[in-house]
Amino acid sequence: MRPDFALPPLAPHPHAITIFIAMESEAAPVARALGMGGPDGRAPRTATLGGARIRLVTPGRDEIALADRIGPLHAALALERALAAEPADLVVNLGTAGGFESQGLGIADLVLARETMFHDARVGLPGFDAVARARTRLSLDDARLEALAAALGARVGPVSTGSSLDATAAELAQFAATGTLAKEMELAALAIVCRDHATPLVALKGITDLVDHHEPVESAFLRNLERTCARIAEAAPALIGLLAAR
Ligand code: SAH
Repeated sequence: MRPDFALPPLAPHPHAITIFIAMESEAAPVARALGMGGPDGRAPRTATLGGARIRLVTPGRDEIALADRIGPLHAALALERALAAEPADLVVNLGTAGGFESQGLGIADLVLARETMFHDARVGLPGFDAVARARTRLSLDDARLEALAAALGARVGPVSTGSSLDATAAELAQFAATGTLAKEMELAALAIVCRDHATPLVALKGITDLVDHHEPVESAFLRNLERTCARIAEAAPALIGLLAAR
């Protein structure tokens, strides 16, 4: 994946860190691991770690559909509102994703995103294609990504975003051609918001399902959700600590 856009590098000692998580089942274990309280009305969950102020932002629950507001649009709206209310020195996106067995990934493995894009945006017009795809290099350079990956036991590579849990045959071919490690439904949208706010972005994803495996992703996702969220939550304090440390 050749990015058209790049997010600003991470400056040393970020003081204000915003963690964005799409689903409450992903957010709750992270909040516990970071010593934050439970969901407390509409107030953001906050903590202090390594000298940084951390707040956890989620898009919340749709009270008509009775489900979390997953997906790129809700992610962008929630992060935009959060950064407009209070800027951050760094946004960290944590969450689940579908991984690729062909890339050597397994359930509950971790992936650090080097770049992201929308894999389901097809606009055959120069310029507009780049806008729609939003291929974006995230903030950490390769050396820093590899050091973090070694510390966390994670892989480093492209994480691709779309509005669907499933994948079309054309998208599967594209994932293979771009060496995509994981697909999810929020990161490229968060990257657009971070670019608008000139705010660095780092993303760590845990694998709940294998996109190129015979089991439907829906059943794998639900079966592995708790285990994978525990793995993400276990890595979260180390990740934030390392990011805040310099
Ligand atoms: N049926 C689930 C819905 C979760 S949708 C439920 O109600 O519990 C999937 C969420 O997990 C999204 O936030 C997305 O970012 C992530 N995700 C995990 N595996 C995915 C995959 N294979 N494709 C796309 N998104 C995935």
